Amino acid sequence: MQDQTAIITGAADGIGWAMAQGFAEAGYRVLIADLDGDKAASRAAELGTAHAGAAVDVTRDSDVTALAELADARFGRCDVLVNNAGIADRHLPTLEQDMEHFGRVLDVHLKGTFMMSRAIGARMIAAGSGAIVNIGSIAGVSGMPRRNAYGAAKAGIVSMTRAMACEWAGQGLRVNAIIPGYVETALVRALIAEGKIDADRLRRRIPMGHLAQPGDIAAAALFLVSGQARYITGTTLTVDGGWSAFGDSGDASSG
Ligand code: NDP
Repeated sequence: MQDQTAIITGAADGIGWAMAQGFAEAGYRVLIADLDGDKAASRAAELGTAHAGAAVDVTRDSDVTALAELADARFGRCDVLVNNAGIADRHLPTLEQDMEHFGRVLDVHLKGTFMMSRAIGARMIAAGSGAIVNIGSIAGVSGMPRRNAYGAAKAGIVSMTRAMACEWAGQGLRVNAIIPGYVETALVRALIAEGKIDADRLRRRIPMGHLAQPGDIAAAALFLVSGQARYITGTTLTVDGGWSAFGDSGDASSG
């Protein structure tokens, strides 16, 4: 991976941080892009001097442009982009959801993925190669009550993944999505603490009987950008411990 670079959004924490560590271990120079620039910089410092951290709000066009220019200046190339930045919805009944938060969820996931892909995709097209990985969710491929904005945003990410993959396949780019199940991150731990997710019930709903670790999603991303996946584009890789496969009634495991 000598000189290869990976830009990962939302990488100061959770799944993104596991990805930053995994890509750095695989030899990539990593640009950690997150809302909190100081945290992104200190995470990059943890990885070593070859890596960088920067503040970005993926919903702001000017931030995205500045990040792409920073990647040009610092690394001079963009081999991998992982669109991972995300926020949770509030798990409220449909009639209680407010449009401001609904819009923010769509903006961070859908608009953010679009704008980052457009900015970095242009550079990849100019270079004639690149791999983009978008992060979906099981909430985007199945009906989950109280998850309107989040589910719609994640479904949109899958659709956008397919469209970009087809559009850019002839230009050397591959675009794929990962569909994680429940992953043990701060985001999910907060939902459990707030009583919005019942952890015991959830574990019994998963055939493998436990939540994913962030590193499980990082491993899938590393596979999708690798040479082993060179004929794979426009696909979704589900990493959910069997959650989506289960169609029987009752528990899927003893948890
Ligand atoms: P975390 O909250 O742990 O990490 C998400 C990171 O994204 C945070 O550092 C957050 O910053 C950052 N972020 C939020 N908004 C923006 C923005 N506008 N611009 C840049 N960065 C932003 O979440 P997870 O690691 O759990 O989730 C990562 C991705 O995986 C998300 O897309 C999520 O939807 C998806 N996912 C997660 C699952 C899970 O079970 N955890 C399951 C399925 C999908 P800050 O903390 O400051 O808000």
